[in-house]
Amino acid sequence: MILKFNNGVIFLRCINCDTDYKHHLRAGQKANYNEQFGEYENLDTDPCPSCGTIETLNMNIEEDEFDYEDLEAMGMPNYEVNQRKYVRDVMKQLKS
Ligand SMILES: [Zn+2]
Repeated sequence: MILKFNNGVIFLRCINCDTDYKHHLRAGQKANYNEQFGEYENLDTDPCPSCGTIETLNMNIEEDEFDYEDLEAMGMPNYEVNQRKYVRDVMKQLKS
């Protein structure tokens, strides 16, 4: 899960073993658009240094689909709402 996204660095907590680690986006890195499937390729994080688990971030969340307050009102857990916010921040950087 993502703890924070700041300045091109994704701060992660391994979903398997709870180890905290970082994934650095490369300078100028862009999301890969797959013409065949008509969507962006998911972003795989670096493997957890402790257990090797890789987290896959979906780069195809609709950009303006949701109002986060609506999601919370709909009963989506805060955890999930926050993850979406972070992933959207990562998407913004990779698509800008
Ligand atoms: Zn791990």
